[in-house]
Amino acid sequence: MTTIDTTNSIDYGQLYIGGAWSAPAGTDVIEVRSPITEERIGVVPRGNEADVDAAVAAARAAFDDPEGWGNWPAARRAEILERFAAELEARGEETARRVTLQNGMPIWLAQQFEAGFPPLLLRYYSGLVTAADGEEIRQGMLGGTALVSKQPVGVVAAIVPWNVPQAITFLKLAPALAAGCTIVLKPAEETVLDAFLVAEAAAAAGLPPGVLNVVPGGREVGAYLVEHPGVDKVSFTGSTAAGRWIAEACGRLLRPVTLELGGKSAAVVLDDVDLAASMEAFFGATLLNNGQICWLNTRILAPRSRYGEIVDAISDLAKSLTIGDPLDPNTKIGPLVSERQRERVEGYIAKGKSEGGRITAGGTRPAGFDRGWFLEPTIFADVDNSATISREEIFGPVLSVIPYADDAEAVAIANDSIYGLGGSVWSSDPDRAANIARRVRSGTVGVNHYVNDPVAPFGGIKQSGLGRELGPEGLSPFQVHKTIYLPPPAGGVQ
Ligand code: NAD
Repeated sequence: MTTIDTTNSIDYGQLYIGGAWSAPAGTDVIEVRSPITEERIGVVPRGNEADVDAAVAAARAAFDDPEGWGNWPAARRAEILERFAAELEARGEETARRVTLQNGMPIWLAQQFEAGFPPLLLRYYSGLVTAADGEEIRQGMLGGTALVSKQPVGVVAAIVPWNVPQAITFLKLAPALAAGCTIVLKPAEETVLDAFLVAEAAAAAGLPPGVLNVVPGGREVGAYLVEHPGVDKVSFTGSTAAGRWIAEACGRLLRPVTLELGGKSAAVVLDDVDLAASMEAFFGATLLNNGQICWLNTRILAPRSRYGEIVDAISDLAKSLTIGDPLDPNTKIGPLVSERQRERVEGYIAKGKSEGGRITAGGTRPAGFDRGWFLEPTIFADVDNSATISREEIFGPVLSVIPYADDAEAVAIANDSIYGLGGSVWSSDPDRAANIARRVRSGTVGVNHYVNDPVAPFGGIKQSGLGRELGPEGLSPFQVHKTIYLPPPAGGVQ
């Protein structure tokens, strides 16, 4: 098991606000504990309302500066963002290590998602904004001319969860910065240490003061930030419960908001599936990151004609996954993020059993671990779509295999959810699968795999959220259209 050197605790005593490291307003701290060893691995100041006031004031001043970030040509911002990407890359290994230490994400995944995605997204959005910079001239129908441009929306409150903290942070930061916005970032308490690397990289890259500010804290600080009068736009990723409160607050304030929330996505396994060929990608769609990703396909819809065979294949997959130290590159399943999270997931496993579900793999804590929040990947068979474990988001490595009679019933079950975020269809015939995917009511659906490609919009319908991230669609929430009507030439049509 890991021996984390706790003598090298990752400690910060200052906050990054207004382009400088300065003393926090209060004396409270956030202690970060490793889910692997349960030991303290770092400590940072706990931001309070006065820190949020200072961060918003800095972001406001940077945005309102007529010579400032938002008024620069996009290409000039892109130069700084390229340096930011390079500074993040220089810290990539440490970023991945910190994420793994804090939330238990297997290190190979942290290297891909957490180290890899942020620079990619900064370059992608810089390129998009630079290519479309400037004013569009539209010859009017009434004689005049319209100059149409896209302006940055203003000061952005970016609030992120702990499960994929860096990639989710940059789903917001990359388009917002490229568009010319300024930002107050509030990371989740569980994953604050990686956010300090972001601040260090921003400072080293020469981001102007106030363009990015980081205030670590819990939900009270997040709520205060959401309602702060100096904020123009809220971009939130997290639970549906918190999203509902934020949507209400933003509705009252008429403040634009993007919400990426929970899910209970379905993997529709068709009767012609090649099970052996699918299992690696199936793992990626169902149990990645120890079952702690919003879009994971946690309802497995299996045709009655092959139900037993599919249950066996998925159960064998779950049993084959190496559980252990997430810093070991061979580990497929690390610990859950916290004791509270493991208890919550165990509560759902008990509920699944009490409602008649049959466990075919996992169901308990793995043997041989006397520390850490480990839990075996767990498969339930003989579950229908009305069971609590089929309806509620568990956010852990628990899958329900639900039988269906024909394609129409599979689609009906997939759509019978309050959520609509991810999903997948598995078949030897990709065209047939794509046709089923078109009928699944969800923001995104994969065929024989599930991967969020940066070029295409990602987000949910129903209670999975509002708005989109990624693709050009993920840029537009950070921009507002502006029109200047130029008069017709003297003597022209009025
Ligand atoms: P959470 O909602 O408890 O917290 C998320 C973040 O919001 C944290 O930074 C938290 O401090 C802050 N927060 C909580 N309540 C707040 C409030 N009222 N006002 C402002 N900020 C508030 O969620 P979590 O447990 O950290 O994350 C897991 C949830 O996130 C799951 O439901 C998961 O599906 C969802 N998630 C969604 C996506 C997506 O893209 N749709 C991605 C990852 C996670």
